[in-house]
Amino acid sequence: MSEDPHTFYQSLLQKELGTYIRLREYRSISGGCINEAFKVKTNQGDYFLKVNKHMPPHFFEMEKEGLLLLKEKSNFTIPDVIALGTFEGVQYIILEFIEGRRTSTNYWESLGSKLAELHQNSHETFGGVRDNYIGELPQSNRSKEKWLDFFIEERLLPQVHLGVQNGVIPQKYIESTNALRQLLKDYFPEEKPSLLHGDLWSGNTMYDVEGQPCIIDPAVYYGHREAELAFTTLFGGFDKLFFEVYNEVFPWEKGIEERLEVYNIYPLLVHTNLFGGGYLEQVNEIYKRIDHALGY
Ligand code: ADP
Repeated sequence: MSEDPHTFYQSLLQKELGTYIRLREYRSISGGCINEAFKVKTNQGDYFLKVNKHMPPHFFEMEKEGLLLLKEKSNFTIPDVIALGTFEGVQYIILEFIEGRRTSTNYWESLGSKLAELHQNSHETFGGVRDNYIGELPQSNRSKEKWLDFFIEERLLPQVHLGVQNGVIPQKYIESTNALRQLLKDYFPEEKPSLLHGDLWSGNTMYDVEGQPCIIDPAVYYGHREAELAFTTLFGGFDKLFFEVYNEVFPWEKGIEERLEVYNIYPLLVHTNLFGGGYLEQVNEIYKRIDHALGY
């Protein structure tokens, strides 16, 4: 960024939205984990702008693909993608600005029913979309017929290998993860692949202008829907009405409570690779139990 930030953002907006656009004000928005985000006020309305200098290739392109797929296949409010690209070495994406209001009384019921509806979109195989990102880490989505294969080969093992490579995760977890194939045989309820948001923690949910749920920042794939439900429980913030209504619309198989922790090995590995620290302790605890169950 050669000039002062105001001039830089003004030039970026002009490149995408025409020479008549005037940046009036930009305000930093907190809440994201990866990028710098801004509300930009212009003479042509407000926009949401995310920028990053150090993103892997196609990062924002994959965010766009995820948002478009969710818009096509769900009834959620999803921000429109206005533009994306690279400007003076800075990658950016410009989205419709979602003006959130906590006005509705049925937010949680609506989130539950819309997620249940989203999950009714199916595909022949697990995976089923182009490789994308979870946070800024690559997420492989090679198609698999069986959820267990997908979960181990496309979700757990890549993260374990990455952690081992970076010296964060002990090497022996590779063997334990491979051995899960035997341990978890017949463990997951047989279900058709469901379209998932893929990174559904409360920070990726918002209110729209009518107080209805908007979801952002996806890492879409066709997966076991229990994996998505599990992730909503990992950091909390989802009202019990959300779960009740989801279960009325698209009931889950019994015993889900015990399976949640197993699905959440994936986001915990991802968080360990992204942020280290306390997440590794949780991963260690789980692997201790896995190794115990395996008789290691
Ligand atoms: P990151 O990719 O860094 O995780 P997010 O996409 O989660 O960033 O965005 C950061 C924050 O910006 C969110 O927590 C949300 O509060 C806000 N936000 C995201 N998208 C929009 C939007 N389209 N309109 C208004 N605010 C948004």
